[in-house]
Amino acid sequence: MQSIYEKYQLKHVINASGRMTMLGVSTPAPDVVERVAYGLTNYFEIKDLVNKTGEFIAQLLDIEDAVVVSCASAGIAQAVAAVIVKDDEDLLLNLHSSDKPVPREIILPKGHNVNFGAPVDTMVTLGGGKVIEAGFANECSAAQLAAKITPQTAAILYIKSHHTVQKSMLTVSDAVSVAREHQLPLIVDAAAEEDLTTYYRAGADLVIYSGAKAIEGPTSGLVLGKKTYVEWVKRQSLGIGRAMKVGKEGILGLTLAIEHYLTATKETGAEMANRMDKFVCDLNTIPAISAQIVWDAAGRDIARTEISFDEKQIGKTTYQIMSELKQGDTAIYFREYKANEGKAEVDVRSVSNEQLDVISERIRLLVKGM
Ligand SMILES: *Cc1c(COP(=O)(O)O)cnc(C)c1O
Repeated sequence: MQSIYEKYQLKHVINASGRMTMLGVSTPAPDVVERVAYGLTNYFEIKDLVNKTGEFIAQLLDIEDAVVVSCASAGIAQAVAAVIVKDDEDLLLNLHSSDKPVPREIILPKGHNVNFGAPVDTMVTLGGGKVIEAGFANECSAAQLAAKITPQTAAILYIKSHHTVQKSMLTVSDAVSVAREHQLPLIVDAAAEEDLTTYYRAGADLVIYSGAKAIEGPTSGLVLGKKTYVEWVKRQSLGIGRAMKVGKEGILGLTLAIEHYLTATKETGAEMANRMDKFVCDLNTIPAISAQIVWDAAGRDIARTEISFDEKQIGKTTYQIMSELKQGDTAIYFREYKANEGKAEVDVRSVSNEQLDVISERIRLLVKGM
C-alpha cells in the first residue's frame, strides 16, 4: 500500500520539539487509538456520555467534576463564558450581543498574557470576556492582582506555563487567596502541565488541560473543577461550545488516556538525561558545536539537550541552521525559543535512540559544509 506520506507528498518528521501543535502534538497509545475507533463506530446518548465520563474522570482524580472539551483553548473560552453566563438562559444564547450588565472582566497577570500558539486574549474574548492585565511585564504580586478587582470582575485567570514570565510572579496559591478574599472564581490554564490535581487542590475553581500534550490522548481538552462551574461549562455546548464541539471519539479516547496516564510509569527526567548521554558526547565532537543537558524552565521533570552553535565559525545563524534541518525527506524540529541566543533544545520525549543518531549525523553534515 502506498503510504500516506507518499500519497499526499508529506514529509517525515523527527519531533525533537516536544508537544507541538504544529507537528501533531503526540501519538496516543494503541489502546487509546482503539478506543477512539470504538467511539467513532458507535452511537451514544451524548449528554449521558459527557456526564458519565466526567464523573468517571472525577472519581479517578478524586475531584468534584470534569468535562472533556475539544482542546485547551476551547476550555479557556468556555470557562470564561461559563463564569460570565452562569445559568442565565438568555446570556447563553446571546453571549456576545447581550447588553445585560453582568461582570465580564477577566483579570490576569500581564506576564501571563502570552501567545501559546494563539493569544490567551483571543480565547478570553471568544468567551465573551475582556482581559484586564495586572502588574507589569516582569512582575505581578497578589496585591497588584487584587488592585484590578472591581464590580465588573468576572474571574481571575492564571496561566501556569513555560510560556509565561516566571520571575516575580505570584503563585497559584496566592491567586487562590485573592480570589477567595473577593469571592471570585479562579480559572487556571495548565494546558501543558503534568499534574492533574495540584491546582485543583490548591483551590482553583476550574483547571484546564490539553488532552494531547502530557496526557497523550487524542486531540481534546479537559476542564475539571468545582461541580457548579463544570456544569456551567457543560451548558456552553448550547452556546459558543457548539463551534468547538468535541466528538464521541475524543471523549472516550481522552477518558481512557487519563486512566492510563495515572498509572503509567513515564520516562523521568533522569532517564531522559541518561538516554541523551551518548548524543551529547557525539555532538561535542563536532566542531563549532557544544551540547549540554538542561532542565525544563517551568520546573517539570523534563531534561533536554541544549545545543549551542558558534554562528561566526559556522557562518550561519541558528535560525538558518534550524531551517536547513527541516529540508530534505525528513524534517527535524527542535525547540527554537532560544535561537536568538544561538541555541536550540532537543526534547527526546518523542524521539527514539536511532533518531538521536540521525540528528547528530545531520548536524555533523551541516557543519562539515561550513
Ligand atoms: C498548548 C497550550 C494551550 C492550548 O492547548 P490546545 O489544546 O492546543 O488548545 C493553552 N495554553 C497553554 C499555556 C498551552 O501551552
